[in-house]
Amino acid sequence: MTNPLIITIDGPAGAGKSTVAQMLAARLGLTYVDSGATYRAAALKVVRTGAALDDEGAVAAVVSAAQIEIVTDDGHSVVYLDGRNVGQQIRTSEVTLAAAQVSRLPEVRQKLIALQRSLARGKGVVMEGRDIGTVVFPDAPLKIFLKADVEERARRRLNQDLPEGRARTLEQTAYDIGRRDQLDAERKVSPLVPAPDAVEIDSTLLSAEEVVERIIELARERKLVKSL
Ligand code: C5P
Repeated sequence: MTNPLIITIDGPAGAGKSTVAQMLAARLGLTYVDSGATYRAAALKVVRTGAALDDEGAVAAVVSAAQIEIVTDDGHSVVYLDGRNVGQQIRTSEVTLAAAQVSRLPEVRQKLIALQRSLARGKGVVMEGRDIGTVVFPDAPLKIFLKADVEERARRRLNQDLPEGRARTLEQTAYDIGRRDQLDAERKVSPLVPAPDAVEIDSTLLSAEEVVERIIELARERKLVKSL
């Protein structure tokens, strides 16, 4: 039996990974997994317990005791913390920044990477994140590194946040994104870098549909999916 197909999509915040990964999974009949939600759930737990984010021992202990699950269903990737759906609570700017801080700890990454790998057991997935092609699934047959100019990423993030009531200015959003980029790129474990065999796509001037078409074309060229 051939292994189920794994497509990894990594890249900085706001490059369009979630939109593209969800559309791609729907087109190819694969399961969509948002790995960032696992780091956000871990961060939410730390914020709730009031542990200092720079107290590595305390953060590691809190996350190790947290029960984090991802339920993938109907094209959605829903995260549960200690048995509760925390899909909304993990999107605040406080948790967003805390996620970039707790994700630097090796103990936290170890636990969450095991969870992410378990989600691909026996089924094909499109998984998005920062280190999916480099660390989580280094043998995946198709790896995408999606990037875009920081101004465009801030604009997209703001458009996503405004209808959800998470109002920020463009400047605040660009600042937050820049700060997260720096934390993600400079951390010692699993820094945000393209896998050597990843295909880089710059989405600054492309629509999500155009990015998805390019990825499907690559999957066809590599004979990972049948030509339609
Ligand atoms: O993708 P998202 O913005 O939801 O991720 C939140 C944070 O989780 C990122 O800023 C990053 O620090 C961390 N993350 C990670 N590795 C992943 C996915 C997310 O370190 N595979």
